[in-house]
Amino acid sequence: MPRFDDIYAKDFKEAPYWWEAAEPETNLDPLPERADVVVIGSGYAGLNAATHLARAGRSVVVIDGDRIGEGASTRSGGMVSSGQKLVVSGAIKGIDPVLFSRLIGESNESFDYLKMLVETEKLDAGLALTGRFFGAHAALDYATLKRHGALLAEKTGVTVRFLDREQQRAAIGSDYYHGGMVIDQYGGLHPGKYHKALRDRARAAGVVLRSHARAGMVQDGAGEEKIVPTARGSIRAAHVVAATNGYTAADTTPGLASRIVPVKSYQIATEPLPADLLAELIPQARMVSDTRRDLIYARPSPDGTRLLFGSRPGIFDRPDKLAAKRLYMRMLTIWPQLAGVKITHAWSGRVAMTVDKLAHLGARDGTDFAAGCNGNGVALMTYLGYQTARKILGEQNMPSAFDRDKFTAVPFYAGKPWFVPLFAGWYRLRDFLDRPGG
Ligand SMILES: Cc1cc2nc3c(=O)[nH]c(=O)nc-3n(C[C@H](O)[C@H](O)[C@H](O)COP(=O)(O)OP(=O)(O)OC[C@H]3O[C@@H](n4cnc5c(N)ncnc54)[C@H](O)[C@@H]3O)c2cc1C
Repeated sequence: MPRFDDIYAKDFKEAPYWWEAAEPETNLDPLPERADVVVIGSGYAGLNAATHLARAGRSVVVIDGDRIGEGASTRSGGMVSSGQKLVVSGAIKGIDPVLFSRLIGESNESFDYLKMLVETEKLDAGLALTGRFFGAHAALDYATLKRHGALLAEKTGVTVRFLDREQQRAAIGSDYYHGGMVIDQYGGLHPGKYHKALRDRARAAGVVLRSHARAGMVQDGAGEEKIVPTARGSIRAAHVVAATNGYTAADTTPGLASRIVPVKSYQIATEPLPADLLAELIPQARMVSDTRRDLIYARPSPDGTRLLFGSRPGIFDRPDKLAAKRLYMRMLTIWPQLAGVKITHAWSGRVAMTVDKLAHLGARDGTDFAAGCNGNGVALMTYLGYQTARKILGEQNMPSAFDRDKFTAVPFYAGKPWFVPLFAGWYRLRDFLDRPGG
């Protein structure tokens, strides 16, 4: 076991590994005084909504309070899949079956949409469908995975394979799990490169991108117009899109902020590993996640050199460098072979949770919003950005199944998630009770 002060490589950075290939951008050019649409938030949802609107002839400006792409979109694990999150998160419990069929159908569509976008628009996004392994954290979880897998196969057409504890080494170089499930059609992309490709594509469509222009509350202007006050001046617009997801704040969109709970998720990247070691840890470069409530997720970097590992560092948030030690310990419980390996990057980002564990589209606070990825937004938020643009353009034959803006506000909450440590503690306790001893 290493001393945990020794885990940092000499060139260690508190920044996403993904930024080595594509960093968020600064653009301090003046803001236009007017646009047909102002999009607040420059992640996948905002950029994709903007591109679709611009291609339909609208003038569009995307503003971000920070750099362009500073949010979750360049910080994620980059794992892509169809409706698995709806099933494994428990979001389906208590949902009307017709609505569930529509939601899972559209989640599946979001995955197809992402693949189509990358392929037809030749986006340099590092998309590789290498498959995904879901590990059963506790013995009982293997049966749960079997139920979930059967549902996913039926509703989304994926092929699902189950590996018991004796067979799981075919999918993961670890004896930690009580078996698991493999879905070969899933995979991952490079979140930084994908974001850069989307912002280049937006600019090519005529979208104006501006950083460091934090929006305040949207106000009514003359006639039907709205006014978006920002740190760098106001913009008048016919429509405003809020694509702020886990970075939604009460001083911009209070109604939305009372329904979205930002929860931090953390990641580390190892130094380059010997190719045979990485191939042993995760054969065939699959994505990996598990059935814990306080889940872990891991993957090889797209260039096949490093292991990237994500989770929460415990009940309380911590600075990224300190959180890295907790993640390192968790990583060793699954892959003890990594003892002594250094880490080069540690970072975190905000995931947008909702009470019903579902993403939502709707109209609130003077905006059309898309938010609530619940940690599964690479494909879904790209797609919901597109659906928001279609709604504004009047292109939809029927509303998206996610278009349900009457979702529950969190009681006694106005944007400061004081209760997250309580839930994190509760989840950890239940994971422990499911598998005493970790
Ligand atoms: C650590 C981590 C790991 C993840 N892993 C995965 C994964 O493996 N697979 C997956 O599918 N999903 C994953 N996700 C979720 C996924 O990254 C997000 O769902 C997705 O990127 C959200 O995109 P978005 O465009 O909605 O929001 P974001 O990319 O978060 O963009 C929102 C932007 O809004 C800006 N903003 C907020 N308020 C204002 C304001 N008032 N004015 C101006 N700008 C504002 C912010 O600065 C931010 O840049 C992960 C998320 C995190 C944090």
